[in-house]
Amino acid sequence: ERERLARLRHTPAVTLDGEAIELLANIEQPADAAAAVQAGAMGVGLFRSEFLFMGRGGKLPGEDEQYRAYCAALEGMQGLPLTIRTVDVGADKPLDKAFKDDHLNPALGLRAIRWSLADPAMFRTQLRAVLRAARHGPVKLLFPMLAHVHEIEQTLAQVDLARAELDARGVPYGAVQLGAMIEVPAAALTVDTFLRYFDFLSIGTNDLIQYTLAIDRADETVAHLYDPLHPAVLRLVADVIAAGHAHGKSVSLCGETAGDVAMTRLLLGLGLRSFSMHPAQILAVKQEVLRADTRRLAPWAQQVLTGEAVATLPAT
Ligand code: PEP
Ligand code: MG
Repeated sequence: ERERLARLRHTPAVTLDGEAIELLANIEQPADAAAAVQAGAMGVGLFRSEFLFMGRGGKLPGEDEQYRAYCAALEGMQGLPLTIRTVDVGADKPLDKAFKDDHLNPALGLRAIRWSLADPAMFRTQLRAVLRAARHGPVKLLFPMLAHVHEIEQTLAQVDLARAELDARGVPYGAVQLGAMIEVPAAALTVDTFLRYFDFLSIGTNDLIQYTLAIDRADETVAHLYDPLHPAVLRLVADVIAAGHAHGKSVSLCGETAGDVAMTRLLLGLGLRSFSMHPAQILAVKQEVLRADTRRLAPWAQQVLTGEAVATLPAT
């Protein structure tokens, strides 16, 4: 089976009805970039930059250290696009394991973009490092867990300020596309606002499921209730994809469901054309793509959304 999949490495990811599908990788370290390309990724859809920040006893990487890390990742990309997500620490990703988060509801607390916006100088250190690295290859900048228009505006103001700081220092930097993670129901329900501000969107189903169903993604006692197929989750995913495409903007999905071959046809049927996943899943998902006919899957996916059909459909 592995050998059979390996032969798909250079096969274009196109469905039976001719839809080109983007298959991207999720990575955690700069060295993962080259491995992702080797595994058949057409780019990185999610570089979880928090892994540069974690396990250091709380001592954060400076601008130059981050710049070198992003440059190293870009070098591994061989010209393919690299999507760098700003730090997403907190909740299930503590800055340091030794640090006990004693907040009542860490998943609802100071995590991700909230953590960055709480310390704008620290946030801009990361933004400047990313902007500088963008001179060396195609970089997309992605922000986690935005929920409110005020957060969007604060975030974009920090990007402007980071550019101004580099200008003032006479340090060159490159152009970046700006994108938002859609992983809070409030963001999915106000996706039109997000589309006014951002060039692209990336749906984070890991958190979107958690927050839509009120199921802690890290709590084993309720893991059986964590359901990617819940109609409420599918409705949000479908609406975000449709809204993005109506505005001519790219919508990717980078939660675990993107790499689950049992989900590929449903997501294609819901209109998804860009998947970002663990690199090890890329060829298996490509195999599903090659067997899929989106024109046949779309009406079935609509029925799954409304509960008229079950999500398991073997034959295309
Ligand atoms: C997600 O929430 O789906 C996601 C991709 O981000 P993370 O798993 O890093 O929270
Ligand atoms: Mg998330």
